Amino acid sequence: MIDLNTLKEKLAQPCKIVITTHHKPDGDAMGSSLGLYNYLIQKGHYVKVVSPTDYPYFLQWLPNNPEVIIYTEKETESKVLVAEADIIFCLDFNTLSRINELGDEVRKAGGIKVMIDHHLEPEGFDDFRHWNINACATAELIYDFIANSLDDATLINKDVATCLYTGVMTDSGSFRFPNVTANLHRIVASLIDAGAENWRIHQQVYDNATEGRLKFLGYCLSNKLEVFREFNTALITVSKEDIAKFDIQTGETEGVVNYALSISGIKLAAFIVERKDKVKLSLRSIGTFPANEICKKYFSGGGHRNAAGGQSEDTFENVIEQFKAILPEYKNLLMQ
Ligand code: 5GP
Ligand code: MN
Repeated sequence: MIDLNTLKEKLAQPCKIVITTHHKPDGDAMGSSLGLYNYLIQKGHYVKVVSPTDYPYFLQWLPNNPEVIIYTEKETESKVLVAEADIIFCLDFNTLSRINELGDEVRKAGGIKVMIDHHLEPEGFDDFRHWNINACATAELIYDFIANSLDDATLINKDVATCLYTGVMTDSGSFRFPNVTANLHRIVASLIDAGAENWRIHQQVYDNATEGRLKFLGYCLSNKLEVFREFNTALITVSKEDIAKFDIQTGETEGVVNYALSISGIKLAAFIVERKDKVKLSLRSIGTFPANEICKKYFSGGGHRNAAGGQSEDTFENVIEQFKAILPEYKNLLMQ
């Protein structure tokens, strides 16, 4: 581990920096990465954002998005960048398995590993961490890191602010989750002061759907929703064929699970989707129900109490049955 002063001394000279984030980056992952990128370039560093995989089109407008390198498309270049970096910023994840094969590259790299994150149970691969599980988004921690740890609030320009606003907005469900504090709203106010156009960001992220995405949503709600009143649980399941039929792209299944959670009385909502190589689960819960416990115990995953995910190598049908079979174990908590 190194202390903040050592990191500041390192950052006082131009460095080679890699910023990476979790596989299938969401708004917080990309907003945090490009937010930090747009800050660090002002300090004269040589910075690259390396994403382990592709990410949704509704995030591809973020300032300096064309500078992002996707590992699966440019493996050799990504590996060289990671190996040669003086500092590797790891944002919005805390276990190297979340960045797929890039994890081994980061593990063996000689650069200082800085983890900025808000998830539970860090693995401990980092040399410096700015970590707080009470933060609603990693973007909130990036703001704090730039403004308070590095005393550079004046460098939070329109580009930085736009990225960080996107991260905070998406991870907080548009400022509605319990970890949205008065302090977060103060941060958001300063991001708007710095030039973030809140209305435009909402529009670009949320009102940018394809026709297929909307029809897919209608299909899920009409045909694929099951409600288990005896467990206050709602489930939506989507097969590989459904994904192909509606030509669903990366990120377009995001948010579908929230419709299941919007039913009155539902405490747990699950979205199970059959991907090419595995079955992926997204769980959301209301109140104290620990969605992350189910993901951790049964589906090699984890996450936050109210938003968690996991996966399985088993068949789609078996995973659905397994999920249903788990519910009685949690009946008391679900019916409270
Ligand atoms: P989503 O359902 O949007 O994929 O994920 C919701 C949250 O669950 C993410 O923010 C992340 O914290 C967590 N999560 C999703 N998938 C995984 C996983 O495979 N492993 C772990 N540890 N956490 C996950
Ligand atoms: Mn996040």
